[in-house]
Amino acid sequence: MKLKTHYVFSTGLISLLLSLLFSLNFYYNLFIAFYSSFLGNTLIDRIGHKEMLTRRGYIPVRTPLTHTLPRSIGWGLVVILPLLYLIYETHYGYSYYYDDGYYYSFLPVIISGILVGPSHMLLDVFTENGIYIKKNGKWRRYALAHFKYDNIGINGLAIFLGFLMLLASYYFSYHY
Ligand SMILES: [Zn+2]
Repeated sequence: MKLKTHYVFSTGLISLLLSLLFSLNFYYNLFIAFYSSFLGNTLIDRIGHKEMLTRRGYIPVRTPLTHTLPRSIGWGLVVILPLLYLIYETHYGYSYYYDDGYYYSFLPVIISGILVGPSHMLLDVFTENGIYIKKNGKWRRYALAHFKYDNIGINGLAIFLGFLMLLASYYFSYHY
């Protein structure tokens, strides 16, 4: 899928799950979700796609470096490290003294790091290049549907779902 589609879909999915799991402020949820969605998806597509020269000119192809379920989780965890460090430096220690301990804790950030990769794979599995799974020691491409990565309908649908999940997250989370 297109990168901007990934941004919206992952941000929506992650902030919805965070709002269901933790009683956090909506904008704090949104910040964590957008942070890991933006960096995680960019990293997965930038280093996971390479240009290949074919008869039709250069086309983007996927490599198994990022487009597998376990590796995508790994890359998601890599991008949250700076944010975890920042939280550690600025708020660690305080969380014990306030009853909104979860607010500044690492758990929501770690969960969002775990989710961003699978949310990327979930969309790409519907495109013609699919994702990679290992079968008998070999990387195989796997797809549930074969839409072109920039198909307007399927990208539009994923963006729409992302917005719906954001709305739901707003509805389920705290506002103070
Ligand atoms: Zn991709």
